[in-house]
Amino acid sequence: MRQQDPLTRAGNFAEVACGYSRDEALLEAERCLLCPEQPCVAGCPVGNDIPSFIRKVTEQDVRGAYGVLTATNLMPAICGRVCPQETQCEGVCTVGDTLEPVAIGRLERWVGDQAIAEGWASIPDIEPTGFRVGVVGSGPAGLACAADLAKAGCDVTVFEAFHQLGGVLRYGIPDFRLPNAVIDAEISNLRRLGVTFECNTLVGRLFTIEQLVDELGYHAVFVGTGAGYPSLPGIEGDSLNGVLSANELLTRCNLMRAREFPDFDTPPPLGKRVAVIGAGNTAMDAMRVCLRLGAEQVYAVYRRSRVECPARAEEVHHAEEEGVEFRWLTNPVAVLDDGSGRVRGLRCLSMELGEPDASGRRRPVAVAGSEHDLDVDLVVFAIGTRANPIMGQTSRLRLNERGYIAVDEHLATSVAGVYAGGDIVTGAATVIEAMGAGRRAARSIKSYLGIRDVGLPFDDGDAADTLFGIDLKERNFARVRVPADGAARVPVAGAAR
Ligand code: FAD
Ligand code: SF4
Repeated sequence: MRQQDPLTRAGNFAEVACGYSRDEALLEAERCLLCPEQPCVAGCPVGNDIPSFIRKVTEQDVRGAYGVLTATNLMPAICGRVCPQETQCEGVCTVGDTLEPVAIGRLERWVGDQAIAEGWASIPDIEPTGFRVGVVGSGPAGLACAADLAKAGCDVTVFEAFHQLGGVLRYGIPDFRLPNAVIDAEISNLRRLGVTFECNTLVGRLFTIEQLVDELGYHAVFVGTGAGYPSLPGIEGDSLNGVLSANELLTRCNLMRAREFPDFDTPPPLGKRVAVIGAGNTAMDAMRVCLRLGAEQVYAVYRRSRVECPARAEEVHHAEEEGVEFRWLTNPVAVLDDGSGRVRGLRCLSMELGEPDASGRRRPVAVAGSEHDLDVDLVVFAIGTRANPIMGQTSRLRLNERGYIAVDEHLATSVAGVYAGGDIVTGAATVIEAMGAGRRAARSIKSYLGIRDVGLPFDDGDAADTLFGIDLKERNFARVRVPADGAARVPVAGAAR
């Protein structure tokens, strides 16, 4: 896929990857073997019917391809951009046994982008059930859950603490990977489904989960509050001026628009020489944001080697191309004070890899006498996040030993009628895994409300038996109909049940 030139893009926030042209998409789609085993479908956490949508692309039925995708995933333009496809659908693609796998994510993005440009949406007419469901958190888990429940005729309200919707999609992932316009366009389809959004609503402070059920008239609740609580390492100097968590840096820049200061009120963190600690998605985004904010030197400091680096290979490559200097096998031990409470440097040790630890990865071990200093004025820690404690502190929800919400196999919490999923259950994961959890919770909520037979298996991926993603086997009170301009994938007769 064509990209902005590395030196140009390191100075702007426009999207790095330019997307396929129609001809490029058709050429790429032709590479799919449409193999009967369909390993890619099982490789996708929401079971997208990948061969069917790619076949529709080759037939130049892009509207039809969009209908196939949105049966399982209402946000193809988002997932096509940010899913780690190399470990999901593309990682098991048959073509990949001998050649480059089919670029499933890029094709999905292209179809999603065509839908945005054309104003398409796969929205059924829905007869209300009378059930009200509250969704706490507007990240991918909450949005996916809200969409499925709205399609089932529930009256769904999403409560979001921030003033804008999208969770990490909005406040974490920068525009150069996922433009805000794409998020807005795909979320607007939920509004068209009838979902109501209440921003600036911190659940646990304005009202509790129990109050939603007991006093505010919600028949069920889904909690998808994510894991956005930052961690600092607890080393000397980590509270100096000039030390930030990556979440703070990214939230200030992306959500609070610090990069447009003074047009927006949030000043950007000022650092000419920056060290970002960590090597996951969040660390890569933080480094690349710092470059775009005008840093002259950005170090990536990671205690293991490139092999263990958790970020996508593409992101490391992009960061390197843009000028980030990677310091692999380097561990920070102290942030240095300039004497006035500001950062003047980062003290590090060089590491080597020893025996594997509990995670199966080789344990980094300090090299004797390897202490050295990096001359920096801003230190950004991207060393993982935790669950925000507010849910546990303000409700009877049982938590697990790591502070995340405890659920059973149907994502039911310890409070009747309350379900949870996404990062608040698993810890930091991926966008599509969170969406998969949101969809599974929606099915459980439908069973709880009697919209779906309790005995129906949760058979992800059986898209042939769905209409707009709704299982045709569901004893669905909502009478779902195909609108005049709808892209039905099954005979209309199948819809009237
Ligand atoms: P979140 O996206 O965290 O959404 C939770 C929402 O709940 C937030 O909007 C929050 O404000 C709201 N909330 C919290 N508490 C309350 C409350 N009490 N009341 C009301 N609202 C509340 N994954 C990928 O697949 N690909 C990537 O490229 C990728 N890049 C990432 C980059 C960064 C910087 C980060 C931090 C993560 C990245 N991830 C990526 C991971 C992915 O974004 C998350 O796994 C996913 O967003 C989790 O979704 P979620 O819905 O569970 O939670
Ligand atoms: Fe692949 Fe993600 Fe699309 Fe699923 S949603 S097909 S994993 S890119």
